[in-house]
Amino acid sequence: MSEEYVRYSNGKVGQVDGMRSPRYAGFPTFARLPRREDVPDFDIAVLGIPFDAGVTYRPGARFGPSAIRAASRLLRPYNPAQDVSPFEVAQVVDAGDVVVNPFDITEGLDAICAAATELIGPGRPLVALGGDHTISLPLLRALHAAHGPIALVHFDAHLDTWDTYFGAPCTHGTPFRRASEEGLVAKGHSAHVGIRGPLYDRRDLLDDADLGFTCIHARDLDTIGVPGVVERIRARVGDLPVHVSIDIDVLDPAFAPGTGTPEAGGLTSRELLAILRGMSDLKLVGADIVEVAPAYDHAEVTAVAAAHLAYDLISLLAVRT
Ligand code: MN
Ligand code: MN
Repeated sequence: MSEEYVRYSNGKVGQVDGMRSPRYAGFPTFARLPRREDVPDFDIAVLGIPFDAGVTYRPGARFGPSAIRAASRLLRPYNPAQDVSPFEVAQVVDAGDVVVNPFDITEGLDAICAAATELIGPGRPLVALGGDHTISLPLLRALHAAHGPIALVHFDAHLDTWDTYFGAPCTHGTPFRRASEEGLVAKGHSAHVGIRGPLYDRRDLLDDADLGFTCIHARDLDTIGVPGVVERIRARVGDLPVHVSIDIDVLDPAFAPGTGTPEAGGLTSRELLAILRGMSDLKLVGADIVEVAPAYDHAEVTAVAAAHLAYDLISLLAVRT
């Protein structure tokens, strides 16, 4: 049975029409969008990266892409918060999943970088669905090749700038130290947002600052609020190309229980959506949403949050294409 996509007058192919085919039916592409091979060309790709060989605590983020896709079936074509129909403005496609070796992290990261590089091409935006946070390193390698140094806006409870775990340099707790060492991120123009929870040592924060990052802690929301956070992000990144990396554990476990290393005292999903929408005039070039581990989820709470975050990120990117 053929899928009945919405076809816009500008030639873009949108979602399977939810008024003609129930949204819980059909192939589970992201937001029921066409697959890459279903349309002649695309502006923005959504890529699944089912890889969790870099986790240090609860495993299971390899099932994140399929869970986010399932939850994304509820997304509708018009985004009133940004006053945009993202799938009409830009041809958005689901590019499927990267085939990643689960037993060889180095080979896995190379495969992710190759897939991202091919989809980005001359500079197309890419929205990646992880996967654990290890995947952000090969994504930044691909983005750097296309755009040069990237201003990273990293939403997470954790710094992810530790050095090694059990001697391993590439894990979900280390991608941004490696990215800084490789010169992928613009020192002095990148920020962590939502940091909280116990660290190993005060030194963790000092090392992180030396690597070129600044921290906007979760507790800062209590004093400067969402507008203050947005202002600090904008001042930090300036007019550099921006990659947004969202570890779903930046949300409080009340809003995202299905993740590998939950920490109390996090952001609400409404706060995070508001911060993203406040970044509309930044030069956003890519995004990833990682660490959704559906085995610990309840009633798709975490996957729905991730799907809606992806939708608002795609909306931001669509108006830039
Ligand atoms: Mn985290
Ligand atoms: Mn992380």
